Amino acid sequence: MSSVNTAIQLITREQAENGAAAKGSTCSPALAKGPWDYDVAEALAGVPAYGPGASSADVAPAATPRQGQLPEEYKLASDAELGERILAAKAALGDRAVILGHFYQRDEVIQYADFVGDSFQLANAALTRPDAEAIVFCGVHFMAETADILSAPEQAVILPNLAAGCSMADMADADSVAECWEQLEEIFGTEPDAEGRVPVIPVTYMNSSAALKAFCGEHGGIVCTSSNAKTVLEWAFQRARRVLFFPDQHLGRNTAKALGVPLEQMPMWNPRQDLGGNDEQALLDSRVILWHGFCSVHKRFNVAQIEKARAEFPGVQVIVHPECPMEVVDAADSAGSTDFIKKAIAAATEPTTFAIGTEINMVNRLAAEYPQHTIFCLDPVICPCSTMYRIHPGYLAWVLEELVAGRIVNRITVADSVQDNARTALERMLAARP
Ligand code: SF4
Repeated sequence: MSSVNTAIQLITREQAENGAAAKGSTCSPALAKGPWDYDVAEALAGVPAYGPGASSADVAPAATPRQGQLPEEYKLASDAELGERILAAKAALGDRAVILGHFYQRDEVIQYADFVGDSFQLANAALTRPDAEAIVFCGVHFMAETADILSAPEQAVILPNLAAGCSMADMADADSVAECWEQLEEIFGTEPDAEGRVPVIPVTYMNSSAALKAFCGEHGGIVCTSSNAKTVLEWAFQRARRVLFFPDQHLGRNTAKALGVPLEQMPMWNPRQDLGGNDEQALLDSRVILWHGFCSVHKRFNVAQIEKARAEFPGVQVIVHPECPMEVVDAADSAGSTDFIKKAIAAATEPTTFAIGTEINMVNRLAAEYPQHTIFCLDPVICPCSTMYRIHPGYLAWVLEELVAGRIVNRITVADSVQDNARTALERMLAARP
């Protein structure tokens, strides 16, 4: 099976040759361009953008980091030349650098990764390489921040393209959350009840800025991943009457629903509206207050796609990520993190058909890894995570060759004051037990 990027190039070429023949096979013809085109476009327009792919329609905050210009030689180099240069730089650096690749990253980058996994697995994988001076994180911005928090101070965490953010993480900024918290404290007060539970505890998904993890650390809160969200919510309910969950409303809703929290006790907080768009009583009656955030990749999945898969492939196993909307999770056979999806497929002993609701690069890689099964993405349109897409082998070659030359570029550094509180929230997560 060819990589997602090769498929995109082929479809685009076919479209150019045959007109509309392949129309609709990719979400954006701009995917065939080099991501550096968007660095240039951003520089000209003066506003950041996420680039083509899922989340291209989301509005990037003004403070979103921008990459600036990638040196021309890396834009002009062929894939083969970039491959040779990356391998030569890797060999020259040896143990001095470790390359981490997220599950959603393109194959053209993953092939050079020393470790492949989800964001937290990768941050932990980096801990096994304390001698590495540089941790090159082929993921998105919040992941590199987490790696910086967990790694030794002398290790430099590098994000090959600074414009690789995460639109979901960007949907909750520190100021809006602080403002929300202030309004909630005015309504709830701060006094614990007779059982010692505080009125509200903040819980942030791993997919959030270090500043929000620090906010949680400072306010008695905690971080969760899509693997441990249930345990973390139980931890929070032992200590608080309610939870403020950000930034992903879907993970919050799906997890709280599975714990038996009624939907009417999960109001949504829209940061652009007073009291988040709620009346005071709804907030007083709440158990989980959901931030108005979502992942544009997982928002693309719908129940009609599941019905179609079931009609075409009787007996199909539908597995979706909990960042999908609630009705999709309800209609699926099971829902879980990327690690859960991977393990479910690995555990199937008989040839099985799997329809998967998560990012296309990961689904295609699973399909190649397990040829005994039929594995396909629920979304028939090729639409990768647009921010992961900003990492291209050209940027990887550039940061590695700079390291060989003794220069660190694109270093992600979390301030010490933020690190301490963020680490507290992460440590609470690690200590939380079912
Ligand atoms: S898949 Fe969604 S949550 Fe993950 S990095 Fe992309 S936009 Fe963010």
